[in-house]
Amino acid sequence: MQGKKTFHIITFGCQMNVRDSQWLGRALMARGFREAPLEQARVVVVNTCSVREKPEQKVMSALGRIRQATGGDSRVLVCVTGCVAQQLGTSLFAKEQQVRLVAGSDGIANAPQAVERLLEEPELRLDLLDFTQHYVEREPAPAPGGKGGPLAYVNIMQGCDNFCAYCIVPFTRGRQKSRNSKAILDECRTALAEGAREITLLGQNVNAYGRDSSGDNVSFAHLLHAVAALPGLTRLRYVTPHPRDMSSDDIAAFAELPQLCPRLHLPMQAGSDAVLARMRRRYDSTAFLHLVEALRKARPDIALSTDLIVGFPGESEDDFQETLRMVQTCGFMSSFSFCYSDRPGARAVLFPDKIPAEIAQDRLLRLQALQDKLTSAWLWGRTGTTTTLLIEGRSPRDWPGEGLGWQGRDPYGVPVHVKLAAEKDHTGQLVPVVITEAKKHSLLAQRLEESPQASKRHRP
Ligand code: SF4
Repeated sequence: MQGKKTFHIITFGCQMNVRDSQWLGRALMARGFREAPLEQARVVVVNTCSVREKPEQKVMSALGRIRQATGGDSRVLVCVTGCVAQQLGTSLFAKEQQVRLVAGSDGIANAPQAVERLLEEPELRLDLLDFTQHYVEREPAPAPGGKGGPLAYVNIMQGCDNFCAYCIVPFTRGRQKSRNSKAILDECRTALAEGAREITLLGQNVNAYGRDSSGDNVSFAHLLHAVAALPGLTRLRYVTPHPRDMSSDDIAAFAELPQLCPRLHLPMQAGSDAVLARMRRRYDSTAFLHLVEALRKARPDIALSTDLIVGFPGESEDDFQETLRMVQTCGFMSSFSFCYSDRPGARAVLFPDKIPAEIAQDRLLRLQALQDKLTSAWLWGRTGTTTTLLIEGRSPRDWPGEGLGWQGRDPYGVPVHVKLAAEKDHTGQLVPVVITEAKKHSLLAQRLEESPQASKRHRP
């Protein structure tokens, strides 16, 4: 083990968890800690997620890996944070000897101070599991060296009030609490000063921002306008919207704000009205299609992606066919799709008519085959168009003979690989390109001035 002030963070789950881990890491660094490999860290944090399947098993197997890597050393302080920590609470202390901090969704704000205290008091165990009434403002955690990279993620709220039947977020992240708009804008300004060019606003149900007692009378659409007006911002995105809560102002923002990227991840979950009603999504397929139409009217080139659950309790083959029809009609450019599985504590656990695993799996494969076709058509439709990439760093992919070295994203959020001068660091640059080829989930491009086949078609 290296020095006392070393840490390692293991992150599961969504973009909000990734952001929480980034904040926690920076807050520890501001206290003099430095990051270290798992085997050498004195403090190990497992930031957990309860959305995907078997969350508890995943956490226990991570704790087992930590025990193995550290030889069960009792000086290693293991902290479990996030949704599963909120659910399992102090029972984690009995399950794993090395765990001495359990911090839930609101408690993570005080985790850095708790870590310092626990290192001083080796016999102590702490839990930070209470929900607060208001959004807990976290201490500022600047990027190391004042440089934070081209992408920044900013939380605008915590929790959710929707209680969809399959989801336990309202129980693990608590009820919806909007963050003060001034604090959001301050964090955005700091991120831009640290080099960000693109900001993604994060929340479980961002369109409901401001519609709770924590809000400060700023609507989500107003917030979008205020963030878009910040000097230095090139691109603005948000995740996750709820179809029911998208206001006409939210839709109009796609027409009014050039900074707002023409890409929206809009969870549909199912295409059958009966299933949507049992899921308690509070919209039907007609309302969803109207929303898609309104978005396309506001921003004709908008690219939509979605989340889909197959095999929800009681889903018939006809219901599933409705999902296929809706996916085809909406023309999603990508989707995350899963077989339904029980989340202890969620309402749907009690629903009868659970769908046998083999039927759900068969539907999932058929759905994914359709999505693959739509994705491929959408990606190939991009070839020959020009666009601008925001370079994020070195390309993780290497195609022999082609020498592609850098990866960025276009305004649609698609990873694009491009060959740029190897000796320079292009991270954070905006590079005009022409799309030359589609891969399964990404695109290849050529820098525009070098391309012999630059097309007249241009996408922003
Ligand atoms: S909107 Fe529904 S699925 Fe999304 S976090 Fe809230 S309860 Fe869960």
